[in-house]
Amino acid sequence: MIKRRPTRMIKIGGIAVGSEAPVSVQSMTNTLTEDSAATVSQIKNLESYNCEIVRVSVNTALAAESLKEIIKNVKVPIIADIHFDHRLALASLEAGAAGLRINPGNIGGRQKVKEVVSACKDKNVPIRIGVNSGSLEKGVLDKSGGDFAFAMVESGLKHIKILEDESFYDIKISLKSTDVLTTVAGYKLLAEKVDYPFHIGITEAGTIFSGAIKSGVGLGILLYEGLGDTIRVSLSDDPAMEVIAGYNILRDLGLRRGGVQLMSCPTCARTEIDIVNIAKKFEKISAKIKSDVKVAIMGCVVNGPGESKHADVGIAGGREKSVLFSKGKVIGKFDNKDILNALINHIESITGEKIDYNGGEDLKN
Ligand code: SF4
Repeated sequence: MIKRRPTRMIKIGGIAVGSEAPVSVQSMTNTLTEDSAATVSQIKNLESYNCEIVRVSVNTALAAESLKEIIKNVKVPIIADIHFDHRLALASLEAGAAGLRINPGNIGGRQKVKEVVSACKDKNVPIRIGVNSGSLEKGVLDKSGGDFAFAMVESGLKHIKILEDESFYDIKISLKSTDVLTTVAGYKLLAEKVDYPFHIGITEAGTIFSGAIKSGVGLGILLYEGLGDTIRVSLSDDPAMEVIAGYNILRDLGLRRGGVQLMSCPTCARTEIDIVNIAKKFEKISAKIKSDVKVAIMGCVVNGPGESKHADVGIAGGREKSVLFSKGKVIGKFDNKDILNALINHIESITGEKIDYNGGEDLKN
């Protein structure tokens, strides 16, 4: 059982972050924010995967204008990601942002910080300080003697002090490096110094394959140590994949419940159907299922049901027909072309949940 680090609690819209609140899963859009229709559509897709917080870059005045329209049309709380320009932060707050990601040391002086802090206080909007090892201040780097974890913590503390000097404590903080051990060392060191909640992630982690592994390792270590209150898995892929990966990491650590636990066999000479393709298709559909259900996708009838006795439901492939089984017992036989549909129908019947798979489109090749 993981013991979480006690922290202050902040709220991003309706989502509590910190201490005993569930570790939340977030992602970031990669559409042009100025294109509100495309951004709304991407956020709605993220919502369908239960993404709990979405970050959107606000890089121009037009993007801030577009943010208004975006926020009006989505349910999930939106964090505006701002670099340097405090006017964009103010415009984003006006547009209804539920959180800001902005580094107060980079926005051009105390007066501008005061304006942003005052608007955040008025609207009860927290600020995330986002320290990235790739963009550390020169003075901090010089002082660190090349210790990036130490440098990230120093930088974070400097930004925190600027906000605390304005009596602002509605803060969360991230220290991201693309190196797992540097990231872990940074958060561990910072945890000894502050009680603000942590947004954790490994930055520029890579593609769905390498990035999910790197994030699983890095976030896994941190979360196991009780560090981390909201997570973003950063992937060079569809942002929905970040959400799927995030929930998998949390579920494997017992930090979130609900959703599908998928077992699938590695295939072998006994495999009789295209398990790889079936498992991939089902994995994407299963990411939208909220009920707690164990599903097995196995390549042969001889060993499949027995090897996955604990599954609530599973399929075991045959040459032309495959079987559907539950807790190791066969409960039906279907043509291979219908087996995935049969699996989904069975999950719907045992959970009572209506599964969203685009009216069958997601089952096609
Ligand atoms: S379930 Fe069957 S096909 Fe899959 S690995 Fe085991 S023996 Fe091979």
